[in-house]
Amino acid sequence: MKKLGIYVQVPFCQTKCTYCNFHTGVVASSRFAPYVEAVCREIREHQESLRAAGVNCGSEIDEKAHSQDSSRQNRAMGQRWLCHEAVVDTVYIGGGTPSLLDPAHLRDILEAIRSTFVTELVEVTLEADPETIEAEKAVAWVAAGINRVSFGLQSFVDKELIAAGRMHRRADIYRAVPILRAAGIRNINFDLIAGLPHQTKESWRRSLDELAWLAPEHVSVYLLEIDEGSRLGKELLLGGGKYSAGAVPSEDEMADYYEMAQEALGAAGYHHYEISNWAKPGYESKHNLKYWQREPYLGFGAGAHSFSGTERWANAHDAGEYVTAVQGGRLPVEQYERLTTESALEEELFLGLRQLDGIDLDRIEQEYGVTLAGKLDPLALAGLVKREGSLVRLAPERLSVSNEVFVELMR
Ligand code: SF4
Repeated sequence: MKKLGIYVQVPFCQTKCTYCNFHTGVVASSRFAPYVEAVCREIREHQESLRAAGVNCGSEIDEKAHSQDSSRQNRAMGQRWLCHEAVVDTVYIGGGTPSLLDPAHLRDILEAIRSTFVTELVEVTLEADPETIEAEKAVAWVAAGINRVSFGLQSFVDKELIAAGRMHRRADIYRAVPILRAAGIRNINFDLIAGLPHQTKESWRRSLDELAWLAPEHVSVYLLEIDEGSRLGKELLLGGGKYSAGAVPSEDEMADYYEMAQEALGAAGYHHYEISNWAKPGYESKHNLKYWQREPYLGFGAGAHSFSGTERWANAHDAGEYVTAVQGGRLPVEQYERLTTESALEEELFLGLRQLDGIDLDRIEQEYGVTLAGKLDPLALAGLVKREGSLVRLAPERLSVSNEVFVELMR
């Protein structure tokens, strides 16, 4: 049976980090319960509401329509699938800070998934901030079926955490990890950000060393993205100094930090499998691999995205609007796109090349009826990609400038 991933968005945080422009809000905890009720209802009623809105998931009629498509288009646009015939094997509860929710809320969400879908859950991830971890909560998470915790820890240096507006401090990380281990969590991810205000080579090295010492099974390293809509981004545009805007490392420094991470994590036994992701052998994120490999997933909650293999759609970002729509029996979807062959090809290249194993050029050229040598050969000549037969991948030593490759390919 086709495997299916489920993403659940919890758009609530304790404070707004200075660099963040996600659709997340700091709201009274009294809003959590109605939101969770809406998510559970959306999960239970998803087939009827999607079908009523003409979205392909779960429709036998669409299955027949697809089988009449041209065979190339059909192959290129992804596999047909019916979500009631798929087995849910991964769940990712992200945010926001979903660890703020009462454990009973998380249990309710997972119960709604189990009672609606055929499930064989092998990876159930909860995003958490270190300061929200308590022993009792961690035990309840494990009892609910959560077996992976992804920490937004970003740095081990308090000065950087304070400047970024994060709530936790280094000591919280050292307090939280043993609590999770004692509760039975055997799969922990640490997120780090390269390029936080006040970060230096020395402080970044310290974060990498402390991470290696705590030995999480999985690590994500992101370069700080300056979003113009964030408080930090606005301050930078104004040329001001609030939020330590004057202490943001340069792009070259960030690229150096990324390369330091590549070296340090490799030396610590992590396998680099996606531009921003490293794992101990066997701990690659099964859920996130679905995004890069264009496998289907359904998203529930405000702003959550879904992908059927041929269509993408997204829910209303505003949590209040989302809850009102679900409570009123309306589909909370605000964006819908049926992929063209061209956009599916772009996704194949963009998402495929993010994985360090690369892409199978022969397969892609055959399925999409295109020749890509004209685009790839100059990149190979410039040393940005490597070609071995039909396999094309980003040059590992040039990953810090991978954006150049994507810009060229999307031209
Ligand atoms: S915790 Fe994450 S989602 Fe929430 S404000 Fe900070 S960066 Fe944004």
